[in-house]
Amino acid sequence: MKLKKGKLLIDQHDKNGFWGGKFGGNFIPETLKKPIGDLTVLFEKLRRDKNFLKERDYYYTNWVHKGPTPFIKLENLTKYLGGAQIWAKVVSEARGGAHKIYGAITAAMLCKRMGKKFLVTDTGAGYNGKMFSIAGKHFGLKVKVFMGFKDILRQKPNCDAMRANGAEIVPVYTGSQTLVDAVSEVMRYWVSNNDTTHLGVGSTVSSNIFVKICGWSTAQISRELKKQILDEFGKFPKKVKLLNCVGGGSSAYGLWSEFIDFSKRQFDFIGIEAAGPKNSKLHAAPLSMGAKLGVLHGSMAYCCQDKEGQINETESISAGLDYPGVSPLHCYLKDAGRAHYVARTDEDALEAYKTVTKYEKLNPSLEPCHAFAEAIKIAPKLSKETILIVNSCGDALKDRDILRQRLGKLK
Ligand SMILES: *Cc1c(COP(=O)(O)O)cnc(C)c1O
Repeated sequence: MKLKKGKLLIDQHDKNGFWGGKFGGNFIPETLKKPIGDLTVLFEKLRRDKNFLKERDYYYTNWVHKGPTPFIKLENLTKYLGGAQIWAKVVSEARGGAHKIYGAITAAMLCKRMGKKFLVTDTGAGYNGKMFSIAGKHFGLKVKVFMGFKDILRQKPNCDAMRANGAEIVPVYTGSQTLVDAVSEVMRYWVSNNDTTHLGVGSTVSSNIFVKICGWSTAQISRELKKQILDEFGKFPKKVKLLNCVGGGSSAYGLWSEFIDFSKRQFDFIGIEAAGPKNSKLHAAPLSMGAKLGVLHGSMAYCCQDKEGQINETESISAGLDYPGVSPLHCYLKDAGRAHYVARTDEDALEAYKTVTKYEKLNPSLEPCHAFAEAIKIAPKLSKETILIVNSCGDALKDRDILRQRLGKLK
């Protein structure tokens, strides 16, 4: 399985929508074939349309954030750990506090072009719902957000934000009442409402076109980072490691996209999944803790499942990572040997939160704290010439209640 150079990874699929011959595809009900076909044609046309790109660039580079989101050296943390240099791409500075704003803007722009008035989506940590509520409000669309009941209870600040922006939260009581069920329900809803409603998926998951639209959107992160690295270092350093937490995988794809053609030795990719509570059998780490290929939400990918092939319940302190599947893009990167994946526990993430906030003026949410945990672990063993870049992709404001419970205090 070989990656092609000079072609975006999102476009490296075969005519049936599979990456590497087996990941992704279109496992969809008959009734969705037409709306998904129409969306595919529209998106492929618009991504080559100058006006559409101009509008996108305006939103991505002026509205999401004035200019690129910050790329900063974490001087104190670097000194404390005494090894590799630690840098952060502070994507949490984007409007709304996380990378999902990119996909939300794209979804709202597509919804408008199709003349649809309703925009629906799933959410886990609540960030995706919040971003869709922000984008929907800006574009005058009615937004419905499907969210597991368990997540509604644990991510109150984001739910408040969604309601304040006029979005409706549809609680999902089925299954584990988390993201996996929210995605199933929103897809079910879309089957019967696709004539008036556009579906935006919150990560690089689901059937082929949704993976592409989301990856195309978050890739903005690495377009910015590429320029910022050159500005900072004058050239591309010899040894860089790009660390990103992986739930569905949209922020990690976004961070890596522009660097995939570089050698692994120069730009190494480490994806960090959620191992769940220490000693728990449940986890949300299909790439690193052993999972089989299965079909979930319209695509073939590694997912956590039992012996009979039923999707397993997952467990993680971070709602954003609490998902049994993962993007086919990451399955492909793993099988091609271009990226590797590890898992960190709830406790590791909490410990990392304490360390990062002790040394730096940064407040990463529990999802990127999984990536910081890995950076903190490996940095002391690496040379000072090695550059570790962590995508600090979310702000901890949404985790306020959990952090107070588990750490007894907040920064
Ligand atoms: C949704 C979310 C994630 C996980 O989703 P990806 O598609 O893997 O990026 C990670 N971090 C934050 C802050 C999120 O909101």
